[in-house]
Amino acid sequence: MFRKSFVASQQFIALLTLFALFLMPMAAVAQTQIQLHSNKYKISDDVKVGRQAAAEVERQMPIFNDRDATDYVSRVGERLASSIPQQFQHPEFDYYFKIVNARDINAFALPGGPMYVNRGMIEAARNEGEMAGVMAHELSHVALRHGTAQASKAQKYGTAAGILGILGAVIGGPAGAAAQIAGQGVGVYFLKFSREYETEADILGAQIMARAGYDPRDLANMFKTLEQQSGGGGGGFLSDHPSPSNRYARINQEAAYLRIENPIRDTPDFSRIQARLRSGGRAPSMEEIARGGQRYPSGETTGNYPNNYPDSAPRGRVEGPSSRYQNYSLMGGVVSVSVPRNWRELQDNNSVWFAPEGGYGQYQNQVVYTHGVSFGLAQTQRGSLQQTTQEFLNSLTQGNGSMRQRVGLQRTTVDGRTGMTTSLTNVNEATGRAEVVTVVTTLLRNGRLLYMIAVAPENESASYQTAFRNSLRSVQITD
Ligand SMILES: [Zn+2]
Repeated sequence: MFRKSFVASQQFIALLTLFALFLMPMAAVAQTQIQLHSNKYKISDDVKVGRQAAAEVERQMPIFNDRDATDYVSRVGERLASSIPQQFQHPEFDYYFKIVNARDINAFALPGGPMYVNRGMIEAARNEGEMAGVMAHELSHVALRHGTAQASKAQKYGTAAGILGILGAVIGGPAGAAAQIAGQGVGVYFLKFSREYETEADILGAQIMARAGYDPRDLANMFKTLEQQSGGGGGGFLSDHPSPSNRYARINQEAAYLRIENPIRDTPDFSRIQARLRSGGRAPSMEEIARGGQRYPSGETTGNYPNNYPDSAPRGRVEGPSSRYQNYSLMGGVVSVSVPRNWRELQDNNSVWFAPEGGYGQYQNQVVYTHGVSFGLAQTQRGSLQQTTQEFLNSLTQGNGSMRQRVGLQRTTVDGRTGMTTSLTNVNEATGRAEVVTVVTTLLRNGRLLYMIAVAPENESASYQTAFRNSLRSVQITD
């Protein structure tokens, strides 16, 4: 895991320094050789375990469904994965990359290839090189099969069931991951790797970076960035990261052995994606996600997991809103709301949607909604509620060519505080039908704008008014 630190013994460091001095003149050939640890599991066990763990992770963590950002992170990830040295390549592994909508600066990868990069990590990195560094470190754990290697040590007779038991215990079953995450911080809730493994991941990570055209020193630099960003007692990263300077030194030392020419560092893609993520609402911390853990139910349930959008366009024909309501806790518990029971909860970029089956779908690589409500936080310049609301409406209409505000702002109340509301007309891009969009806003204490967007086709609008009004009335804010 990225956040675990390695503290080498003084002797070891001394020895390495000695070697480094001797080897300097022929540095180009002196990169550190890494040996695979003995492993009782089959390659296919890594794949199997990783798949099951990934399913669990995606039930319990908010996956950030931004196509553009995910594609970008995947491009960087694939570039790194294809630069894994031949002896550590496993054709059975499937490296793929997703963003978790969490503020904590971290990333983790699962056996067999699934990798999860926190939004906070991308926002914190100073350039693409630093982001790639963390990813290369995580890829190295996977390529070196650290998960199953460590389980092999812990168990005399290895079977897939055995390691699943271990992973299961650490992930913590249906409601447990939340508690695990809350207690320990993400990054350690899977397998805790030994210091030896962490060093190997740093060294192989450095080698992969060089092969992929990055400067391994950016992996080392990321530690500095982490120190700065988690300073001031915010995250606890430094508390379980007592001595990043050792890792920093070791990575830089490895970099001296590697061939690095015109490394990739700042890229327009990175700047663009980072700016976009930073301008979005504040991502919840892992702890907040844990407290709202019931948002991501585990096991059977209804399949209302984040990111399970259908591949097809929204049908636009849906069952009417149920008269029974279900309560949800949003934004790390800051907001709660009740919505018709037959609406599913869906994570979409910085907002949460509740929509009936058939009332949402994919259209031209975007998720489009025809029926339902959305809640989110908008980052605004400090100003009056009226100003920030108008600013938010402008951003909505600018992003949607046919959306028009049809009435001025009117006052309303949201959980007892002053709110603003207005209504807009639009032509739904997927169905081509006219629709009515109602927007309600209020300010949180921290100055952010909480918004609710309700959408329904114009000819069904009347039958959705009650559901929208009830949902709005049920909103409770505790900030
Ligand atoms: Zn690690």
